[in-house]
Amino acid sequence: MCIFCKIVDGEIPSNKILESEEFLCFHDVNPRAPIHLLIIPKAHVEKFQDASSELMANITPFIQEVASKMGLNLSGYRLILNNGEDGGQEVPHLHFHLLGGTKLSWPHFSPKETHKSL
Ligand code: AMP
Repeated sequence: MCIFCKIVDGEIPSNKILESEEFLCFHDVNPRAPIHLLIIPKAHVEKFQDASSELMANITPFIQEVASKMGLNLSGYRLILNNGEDGGQEVPHLHFHLLGGTKLSWPHFSPKETHKSL
């Protein structure tokens, strides 16, 4: 069972923010911003590439509710979804990172200095 499935089952503790029948939101253990949350489907889906359009439609209002609950709906926030190895996905259970609470920079995401546009 993957680590996020264990969080869903309560085998591993988490600092929960919001829960519905389908989704769970909790604090990231290694925050990269003043507010850094993870939003996951409770059912195991490995990555975005496997996600159904129904799941993506349903998760949208849940994320919006989380943002409102955290007071980020007006100030703004960033959503990140890492998909697969090159995308930097470490936990093989679909999750959105929701980051906010400060004006976020837009760093380079690749070690290369420059990239030619395709
Ligand atoms: P990713 O690299 O997109 O797969 O992100 C995985 C995220 O999960 C990282 O930001 C980790 O800090 C976070 N993480 C790993 N284990 C836990 C845990 N037990 N509770 C909360 N966050 C976790």
